[in-house]
Amino acid sequence: AKAAGGNRYALFDPAMHADLLDEARRRAELERALAEGQFVVHYQPIVELKTSRLVGVEALVRWNHPERGLVGPGAFIPLAEATGLIVPLGHWVLRQSCQQLARWRVAYPHACDVYVSVNLSARQFQAPGLVDDVAAAIADAGIPAGNVTLELTETLLMRDTAATANALAALKRIGIRLAVDDFGTGYSALGYLRSFPVDILKIDKSFVDGVATNHEDAALAQTIVQLGRTLNLQTLAEGIESVEQSSQLEALGCTYGQGYLFARPTAPEQVETLLRRS
Ligand code: C2E
Ligand code: CA
Ligand code: CA
Ligand code: CA
Repeated sequence: AKAAGGNRYALFDPAMHADLLDEARRRAELERALAEGQFVVHYQPIVELKTSRLVGVEALVRWNHPERGLVGPGAFIPLAEATGLIVPLGHWVLRQSCQQLARWRVAYPHACDVYVSVNLSARQFQAPGLVDDVAAAIADAGIPAGNVTLELTETLLMRDTAATANALAALKRIGIRLAVDDFGTGYSALGYLRSFPVDILKIDKSFVDGVATNHEDAALAQTIVQLGRTLNLQTLAEGIESVEQSSQLEALGCTYGQGYLFARPTAPEQVETLLRRS
């Protein structure tokens, strides 16, 4: 049915219809991928800047697509978020990461301090049973909760509700550590740092990029490090690509780092080379 007088009030827009069909098709494809085990988790090393010692790994999901090969999260996480499929997918990543850490702890007992850091979507946070799911993933894998960090976004933490506060408090009671991902990119309000029991600030790559070449970026990174120190939080810089960035961040007092300079996200087998040497 098309309204008279042009398509300003058109009820049927063929282009929009095609988009919806395309979205439905892509969603079905993602669901099938999850059911058929096409997702894989890669791990990016996290190091202590001063010593380059391996302290943890961040779990980053990839889609091992039968035709397109290894597809990065940028190509499917937005749709998974929009459709809610991020909830079962994120749950799968969490369980997979806990089980991987458990196997590494058996094979490399000297590296038993190494932790796994898992990204948590706001949608997972809103879904019922999150705390129980996390507790079960850890118990089933048989790993200490202290070796699991959950990465939360500022957007999630800005939702200063009783439900958020209760879930975060329950996760802390289990012994999970909480990191604020992409710190500094979300909001200028910092009140949530007072309300919520976070442990780690992950300094966003956008500040790290210019930290060795530009005074403003260096000042911002330094401010975040000082804020962390004042609030007794660890600071971890993301996306470190050069020795200059790494030394500058270390000089500013940042303790931990992650980035292509140290290692790209890799399949579990490559992490094992590092675990063996650590
Ligand atoms: P993120 O959590 O900020 O993860 C860091 C991203 O930066 C990763 O991209 C990583 O490969 C990339 N990176 C690390 N070091 C460097 C570097 O030195 N230079 C550059 N240019 N990039 C670097 P990736 O793996 O493509 O993931 C993109 C985003 O997808 C992640 O950003 C995260 O927001 C999301 N994501 C990935 N896995 C999951 C997941 O399991 N659950 C959820 N909810 N989100 C995920
Ligand atoms: Ca992250
Ligand atoms: Ca990040
Ligand atoms: Ca990011």
